[in-house]
Amino acid sequence: MEKIRNYINGELVEPISKAYIDNVDPSRGKVYSLIPDSDERDVELAVAAAKAAFKEWSNTPKEKRARILQRISFLIEENLDKLALIESVDNGKPLHLAKTVDIPRAAANFNFYATGILHYSAHAHSMEDTAINYTLRQPVGVAGCISPWNLPLYLFTWKIAPALASGCTVVAKPSEVTPMTAYLLSEICITAGLPKGVLNIVHGLGPKVGNAIVSSKDVPLISFTGGTKTGAHIASVAAPMFKKLSLELGGKNPNIIFADCDYEKMLSTTMHSSFSNQGQICLCGSRIFVERSIYEKFKTDFVERAKKLTVGPPTNADTKVGAVVSKSHMEKILSYVELAQQEGGKVLCGGKRKIVEGEFKDGFYIEPTIIEGLAYDCRTNQEEIFGPVVTIMPFDKEEEVLMMANSTMYGLASTVWTQDITKATRVANEIHAGIVWINCWLLRDLRTPFGGVKSSGVGREGGFEAFDFFTEPKNVCIKIK
Ligand code: NDP
Repeated sequence: MEKIRNYINGELVEPISKAYIDNVDPSRGKVYSLIPDSDERDVELAVAAAKAAFKEWSNTPKEKRARILQRISFLIEENLDKLALIESVDNGKPLHLAKTVDIPRAAANFNFYATGILHYSAHAHSMEDTAINYTLRQPVGVAGCISPWNLPLYLFTWKIAPALASGCTVVAKPSEVTPMTAYLLSEICITAGLPKGVLNIVHGLGPKVGNAIVSSKDVPLISFTGGTKTGAHIASVAAPMFKKLSLELGGKNPNIIFADCDYEKMLSTTMHSSFSNQGQICLCGSRIFVERSIYEKFKTDFVERAKKLTVGPPTNADTKVGAVVSKSHMEKILSYVELAQQEGGKVLCGGKRKIVEGEFKDGFYIEPTIIEGLAYDCRTNQEEIFGPVVTIMPFDKEEEVLMMANSTMYGLASTVWTQDITKATRVANEIHAGIVWINCWLLRDLRTPFGGVKSSGVGREGGFEAFDFFTEPKNVCIKIK
């Protein structure tokens, strides 16, 4: 069975403990590779390598750094089919999704930040004839990057690429649930000629490896994407050490559908925003508010389409909904369906594990699930489920739907459907969220800042904000008179 290795100081190495954890293919429910069960000792080696490489990497001309990062981008593109297949086995997501979204976006992340850094500039301020102030932006040092399992390579590279482009060196940990594409990325980095120690990838468990990265006195910056509870723990460790911190956390995103929307476009996009990647995208809409006059029609059409979605093995061409990422996650999702029923909800479709025939019979499949009849403030409508489960609720007035939409502790993303641009803009202004999509979903220019408000996170990644995060401003004042 294949053993994944850590990538430390330019080499692929075994964990010091020589211990491994099972890596399960969620579409079959079977172990298919082994992940290093690394600990603080491996993290210490990785941090030492990153620290040693920092001086040279941060002083490498931007053009040279950009060329190496672009080479990584090309190699990801060249290996698209292989990476997509591995990501879909590791994660359970439909292969076509990995091919068209996850892997191309990972390549785009490297290309975007490689070229972006060439155009990133700092400010100068003149105090008339007294002095000139200029701001130097210097890379912070060793960046700790920790990412989740839902969009494995996409989110991993979303952190690593701007960190490396900015001149930081990196110690990174992918989710232990989906480590395989990060492992292939380490091979790609070696082929691309990334100098040793510039990027180090340590595999293993969050409480061991993740915690060791966050606690290291030699890692002054943490970029984390994951659950809100983990984020709170990380903040409690990092804050007393005054680390720079970016936290991209959970969501419970509202879709607000007005009766005057383009109905067909809304319906097909809502299918995607509800069930893409088995609902395991932090930006999926999970609470759907529909204006009462079209509620019954929407309910009938939405349920009918959801029932037609093919749930099955990720590699089947007609699969629209693959496996959820793990057995424990499947059990968590199903426990929320049970809770919803206890809270008075009616399951309109799905709600159960689906058993797929043959070699996939032990895989973790859940039918797309739509629930109605719940109060906006019950637990099902307040807590993140992170699976193919959505609730639908009617509304009468704009103020009422805004109150319900804004009632959770989260504030990551939202979607508004209406042809009335004035109303759309007004509602967008009032929604507590880092992103509002009007008549679309998941469209994003990489130059825009990305992140949530309230318990969905602090800090912004994306765009040139990412360079601001991975660098420290130093103001230099020159007296000229
Ligand atoms: P977790 O918070 O469980 O894990 C995220 C990462 O943190 C993993 O690599 C995990 O390792 C690691 N980790 C766990 N415990 C610690 C610790 N004590 N110290 C340091 N690192 C630790 O999240 P999930 O992987 O379950 O991902 C799903 C969550 O991510 C959802 O809540 C989702 O909304 C959120 N998310 C947010 C996004 C955003 O942009 N706002 C985007 C995508 C997802 P291990 O896997 O080994 O436990």
